[in-house]
Amino acid sequence: MIAERLNHVIQRIQKVDHSQKVKLIAVSKKKSIALIKEAINSGQKDFGENYLQEAVEKIKAIDDPSLTWHFIGPIQSNKTASIAKYFQWVHSVDRKKVLTRLNEQSKENQKVLNVLIQVNIDDEDTKSGVMPEEIDDLVNYANELSNISLKGFMCIPKPGNAEESFKKMKILLNSYPYLETLSMGMSNDLEIAIRNGSTMVRIGTDIFGAR
Ligand SMILES: *Cc1c(COP(=O)(O)O)cnc(C)c1O
Repeated sequence: MIAERLNHVIQRIQKVDHSQKVKLIAVSKKKSIALIKEAINSGQKDFGENYLQEAVEKIKAIDDPSLTWHFIGPIQSNKTASIAKYFQWVHSVDRKKVLTRLNEQSKENQKVLNVLIQVNIDDEDTKSGVMPEEIDDLVNYANELSNISLKGFMCIPKPGNAEESFKKMKILLNSYPYLETLSMGMSNDLEIAIRNGSTMVRIGTDIFGAR
């Protein structure tokens, strides 16, 4: 059943006219190890998780070094050690303090952590993410850190505003020619995201069902 849903999502991606490579991240938050294993058995390698404690339990239990784990939820700065230890990618970095800690803790784990800066692209009051005018400062800071590899940007658009938000994200990425990753697109706006240059889509509901 997961296999079918996963195939359907892969077909949706392929149907969108695009030239960039698109990585599918299966967002498995609140979903069981059994369901995640079904996805693994269907060939899925990249998984996204939002809640740290839940995620670490699952990552340890599944214990498969061929998988890539992406942390996509809000980050509490006192919880960064587990992120640096168990994840290969972090999509939701939005401040220097978190970068400083992730860098030190990645060094302790002798690894380089792949990082995306989450952008509050629609200037929403309540949303996490960096305001557009603060991005450049954070990019420059990340670039100085030896155990952080800054790859690009992530966003969660304001409901109903996906097309406009994604276009702004693409322009933002293009202003940093050495960055290549745009993490955008969820179950209900995957096609719009890919048409506008997404290179990582984060799909939960359409693979694992409603939460
Ligand atoms: C839950 C979540 C997703 C997946 O959303 P679906 O609508 O279930 O596909 C993607 N990105 C983030 C940041 C999420 O929290």
